[in-house]
Amino acid sequence: MTTLTKEIKKEEKKVPVRGMMDNVMEQFESAANQIKLHPNIKKILSITNNEIIVNFPVKMDNGDVEVFTGYRVQHNNALGPYKGGLRYHPTVDIDAARALAMWMTWKTSLAGLPYGGGKGGIKLDPSKYSQSELERITRRFTYALADNIGPEHDIPAPDVNTNSQTMAWMADTYMSTRPPAQRSANQHVVTGKPAGSGGLEGRDRATGYGVYLSIKFWAEKNAQVLTDKKFIVQGFGNVGYWAAYFLEQDGAKLVAVQDANGSIQNPKGIKVEDLYNYSQINEGSIVNFPQAQPVDNDKFFGLDCDICIPAALGNQITKDNASKIKAQLIAEGANGPTNVEGEKILLKRGITIIPDILCNSGGVVGSYFEWLQNRNGELWQLNEVMAKLDKKLKESFDKVYDYSRQEGIDMRTAAYCIAIQRIERAYVQRGIFP
Ligand code: GLU
Repeated sequence: MTTLTKEIKKEEKKVPVRGMMDNVMEQFESAANQIKLHPNIKKILSITNNEIIVNFPVKMDNGDVEVFTGYRVQHNNALGPYKGGLRYHPTVDIDAARALAMWMTWKTSLAGLPYGGGKGGIKLDPSKYSQSELERITRRFTYALADNIGPEHDIPAPDVNTNSQTMAWMADTYMSTRPPAQRSANQHVVTGKPAGSGGLEGRDRATGYGVYLSIKFWAEKNAQVLTDKKFIVQGFGNVGYWAAYFLEQDGAKLVAVQDANGSIQNPKGIKVEDLYNYSQINEGSIVNFPQAQPVDNDKFFGLDCDICIPAALGNQITKDNASKIKAQLIAEGANGPTNVEGEKILLKRGITIIPDILCNSGGVVGSYFEWLQNRNGELWQLNEVMAKLDKKLKESFDKVYDYSRQEGIDMRTAAYCIAIQRIERAYVQRGIFP
């Protein structure tokens, strides 16, 4: 065999890795078939409107210069400005940004918001950089994005490894680069800012609270109570922590947690606040928490529980672990945590999935409130925010739940159908320019 044929043989054996885009497209396909989406609209929604890739230099603490790659993908704006988070993670690339942007289009549409969908971020591991380096990276990224973002055009927000501090730096940089008389009129260029700098009271807990509410609404529909329900959480960041916090208040019991560093379990229950306080003095990690036992990462999804909350990254529940899951309910705090193959297995086993675009939509609904608050020059109180979140999320949950029952389809397909139909209507009403 020549070297060339050897290489070709090797190539053939490679199993293609399923990207996030494959998932979102397959989910889109099945909803599009279900609602008989017009082929013209399908063409438009199958592709992103704009993709911005920026390479920008930043001076490190030691005086060296590093060049970073940042992304912002704008999928669709038929219903309003592009909206969606920015994540800082080594897995950020154009495929991930496209898929996540598309998910945002469905999410904002489903929630009935006047927004489209966008997403982006920087390919980097933030744990490798100091705070002042992260500040310069964020400011330089904002500067590089320039007028590709804007308060009535494309409005970023926090996502994986970004937070209110990141948003404060972005808002400040964006506002500083506007003419003086326009600076303060631009603070809604990003949402998820700190409450003292135009941020919304309660925006920090909005996503996790929404995850909790979806579980509560599901329990109510199924004549179940949350007291003594056992739940496991993958990811103990903003979403995982707040979801666990609210579930515990209703008497549910956190029995296992996984983060980027490892997994822990305690069938008798893990106190959410104790774990949070421990993680704060343990570089943000939950590993070696004294009131729990370590458990192998690959055993995590198979642990005994009633509810499973993936609240970290995409593609976590797959054909490799879906058949081991004990939970009767999966509440998707993360974006795209269950891939299409994993989902097929779960549905066949009668496990319910509250899909990401519904389950974690509390975050972007909170963002919408913040944007309105800034635009109208108002300051909303926490109890007002929480009550409005409750109302909005209940409406979305009921819409999806009822549609799925009516049509005899799973909740994800139902959520997609509702979201896509709203966008289709806008295109039909407006037509295509010119
Ligand atoms: N990153 C969050 C999400 O995936 C929030 C987006 C936003 O508030 O714009 O939904």
